[in-house]
Amino acid sequence: MNYLDAKSAPAREDRLKTNIAFGGTCAQIRGCIRAGCFSGKGCLNLADRRFAETQGCQFTLSLAILNTLRNAVVIMHAPIGCGACSIGNVGVNKTFKQLRDPSAEGVVWLSTNLDEVDVINGGERKLREAVLYADREFRPETIIVANGCVPALIGDDIDSILADLETQTAAKIVPIHCEGFKTKVMATAYDAVYHGILKKLTKKPERQQYLAESDLDKIREQYRISRNVNVLNVSSMSRQDELELQRLLNAIGLNVTFIPCYAEPEDFEYSLESSLNVSICGTHDDYFVEHIRENYGVPFLIDTIPIGRKNTDRWILKIAGHFGLEKEAQRLIEVENRLLDESLKPFRKVLAGKRAFLAGGEVRIVATAEILQDLGMEIVGFKAHHFDRFIEPMFDSLDNVDDVVIDVATNQPFEQSNLLNRLKPDVLITHTGGNNIYAKHGLPILPLFGPSYNYMGYSGVFEVARRLNRVMRNCQFNKKLSRYTRLPFRKEWYEKDPFAYIKNQDAV
Ligand code: SF4
Repeated sequence: MNYLDAKSAPAREDRLKTNIAFGGTCAQIRGCIRAGCFSGKGCLNLADRRFAETQGCQFTLSLAILNTLRNAVVIMHAPIGCGACSIGNVGVNKTFKQLRDPSAEGVVWLSTNLDEVDVINGGERKLREAVLYADREFRPETIIVANGCVPALIGDDIDSILADLETQTAAKIVPIHCEGFKTKVMATAYDAVYHGILKKLTKKPERQQYLAESDLDKIREQYRISRNVNVLNVSSMSRQDELELQRLLNAIGLNVTFIPCYAEPEDFEYSLESSLNVSICGTHDDYFVEHIRENYGVPFLIDTIPIGRKNTDRWILKIAGHFGLEKEAQRLIEVENRLLDESLKPFRKVLAGKRAFLAGGEVRIVATAEILQDLGMEIVGFKAHHFDRFIEPMFDSLDNVDDVVIDVATNQPFEQSNLLNRLKPDVLITHTGGNNIYAKHGLPILPLFGPSYNYMGYSGVFEVARRLNRVMRNCQFNKKLSRYTRLPFRKEWYEKDPFAYIKNQDAV
């Protein structure tokens, strides 16, 4: 894989044959993976909807990562509304930046605020002014320019403008081409962001040559690198998640660097002084780690996500295997599992037998289902934002899900509402930020992730059980919502097949 000569990353529909429209069972979807749907034949890749209620935008998801970077100013080259989502993240991002570095600034963003006149005349002048203002006013290490649909449609030559401006600014300028109309797969955003980082921020750091002055320094440095792993964090992870994964890897003798979220721009240079890139989630990272292996020779591991005890065991063992630390890992896993078993006993009594529906990112929902099965709960349905080959390892940790329904849909709340009405789960575990409709079903809801809570590693299993226990014991708020508010869909819709609008799914 090498897309770095291109101006921007390809859409995931093309690169990974990612699917966003499927309705069936887990057995069927796994059959598709085995049949090689993602190898280029693209049977499921052609599936779509005759009617779609909503659509995701990769620009907004790109901002979820870009707004976390420290010592950077983000310029949104777009109409002002495109960046509105950032307002919801400002507080969290500032706090989390300061957990890494107490003197870190909060999120600094500017918008070029393109309007009708700019659509005719072009956005170049506003972009130039914004970049020079950001450099002069904030003196950041990096200025990130994320462009929305408008400049892409009117043909602003952003790369040439920024190349010219870089001769006038102290900051490095990183273009991120993430216009929303380019793809229906929001996760293309990860590739768009990494594309910019790979092109502009990733290069061998100079300090390695400096440190290699004496033989002793050289040996020390080589040893440090030989025991260092980069863990590719995601913006949905909390600091507690990071500390838990760091604790586990430290326990087997490894040091950890977290990138890309909350990193400093120069951290991407130092990240090349590592022996292994470890993905938390293939859906986020494959574009980055493949390019780093190809260009800098750092190997990578993409397998499972460390959510749920079996997935965490497997994640640790895979990493340990790379360094020959399997015995240390086995000892750690034994102790952690014993402690976890003890701690889960009281929650099993309450939660065993309860039926759950999970919705959100493909990797995360299937991995989180492992925690629920561990607690004796039954999985009745999934809804995944999209579906690609990275979902497969997560299924290994689940039992008896062949007949469980899975809906693949980016947003499309009407399909999920129909499914909830049919399946009648006892609890819903679902992506944060989109639950205003589902709460009206009167179900207890546990967010699938939360920036202030721990979900990963062994402590994450305990925390999910503890919080699930709490929300299931008291869901009066949602019950009252269901009593006094109406769901937005007609009665007739609930009598229809939830997948009635999906087309070209013939291969299944
Ligand atoms: S789809 Fe285009 S116009 Fe709409 S928010 Fe995304 S980038 Fe902006």
